[in-house]
Amino acid sequence: MQTSFSPRQLAEPDMAASEAQIRKCVHCGFCTATCPTYVLLGDELDSPRGRIYLMKEMLEKEQAPTAEVVKHIDRCLSCLSCMTTCPSDVNYMHLVDHARAYVQERYRRPLRERMLRALLAGVLPHPGRFRLALALARLAKPAQPLFQRAPSLRPLAAMLALAPRRATAPPSSATAAVPARKGRIALLQGCAEPVLRPEIREATVRLLNRASYEVVFAKGEVCCGSLVHHMGRKDDGLDAARTNVDSWTREIEGEGLDFIAIATSGCGTTIKDYGFMLRDDPAYAAKAARVSSLAKDISEVLSAIDMPHAAAPRPMTVAYNAPCSLQHGQRAGDGPKRLLSEAGFVVRIPEEAHLCCGSAGVYNILQPDIAARIGERKVERLDRLNAEVIATGNIGCAMQIGLRTGTPVVHTVELLDWATGGPPPKALA
Ligand code: SF4
Ligand code: SF4
Repeated sequence: MQTSFSPRQLAEPDMAASEAQIRKCVHCGFCTATCPTYVLLGDELDSPRGRIYLMKEMLEKEQAPTAEVVKHIDRCLSCLSCMTTCPSDVNYMHLVDHARAYVQERYRRPLRERMLRALLAGVLPHPGRFRLALALARLAKPAQPLFQRAPSLRPLAAMLALAPRRATAPPSSATAAVPARKGRIALLQGCAEPVLRPEIREATVRLLNRASYEVVFAKGEVCCGSLVHHMGRKDDGLDAARTNVDSWTREIEGEGLDFIAIATSGCGTTIKDYGFMLRDDPAYAAKAARVSSLAKDISEVLSAIDMPHAAAPRPMTVAYNAPCSLQHGQRAGDGPKRLLSEAGFVVRIPEEAHLCCGSAGVYNILQPDIAARIGERKVERLDRLNAEVIATGNIGCAMQIGLRTGTPVVHTVELLDWATGGPPPKALA
């Protein structure tokens, strides 16, 4: 696509990076067919190509974002399916992240939206606050159908629907002593996952310990920053990235790390991007690049190390849902499917496996109607497989799918832990 950014604009690193991506787009439109919002809404402006055009106009002309442009950018799930499809290798993720930061700086949202976004940014990245918010949500849960009827209250209804009915205890931080240690792995502690499904972290630790890897939780680590970063809160995202880079660098320079393992693929995509996010910060660029190079999804770690012998407790059929952040954001390939098959599970893949489930961080709260339609479409395809269990690699997907199906939904590591001698996943108990 032709651009006409001025030399002054191109002296600004984020603008120069976006211009480079916009120029790569040849307007072929291949990406439209794999974009969930275009597939659902059929509007060119809700397609990657249409959004790239809107972002180009906004950035190049330094326009104040209009409500119409913000609407179409907000509707993007950041699922990155378009990046997998694009033959020109357009890095849509960096482009939309920049556009969102631009919108956040220059657009005044209606009060209700500002309050909702401030609430999400202030609560979700902090496990203590999130736990308290879920306790309140449980009390308000009976009002959910009432909120659902009022369009302006649907985000609240979506939050209440996602709140689990029962409180969970924090995950155990115990890791087993590993006599013949093969290596040392820092496991991302996460923010929402340990509050919603603590059993995922416990299964991951057992699995890595069983493979003779020491697991450590780095001191000072915070939420990966993904949630605020994708809401356009650039400085908050960078603060989180710097804190985590410092925290893992202490471990790397101390006893050393083989991997930084991440069991929530949405977080993994962002941590793998820390090197890009901090590229212009002389104090952090090199450290961030090193952290990003060690960051691996748990399925990548398990594929790279000697997995303990696995045998599925019974020949169970598993519908595998590949999170977008794993298949498109990290291009992690078929690792999870292969690991499950090698462990003896019968793995089935749904139609339209490349399309998002509609979770997308806090998208299912900010855009509840579109997220619900995308979620129902996904679950309809998963349910068609008649599997005994659905496995996925991201807590957001597990919650979004679990809300709409009667089939138990677990994390892939819970099945692998079970197959290598751990307890059955709680959702199957
Ligand atoms: S990230 Fe997903 S929703 Fe957004 S434009 Fe790309 S394919 Fe469409
Ligand atoms: S597939 Fe890539 S090059 Fe083609 S329109 Fe989409 S973003 Fe542009």
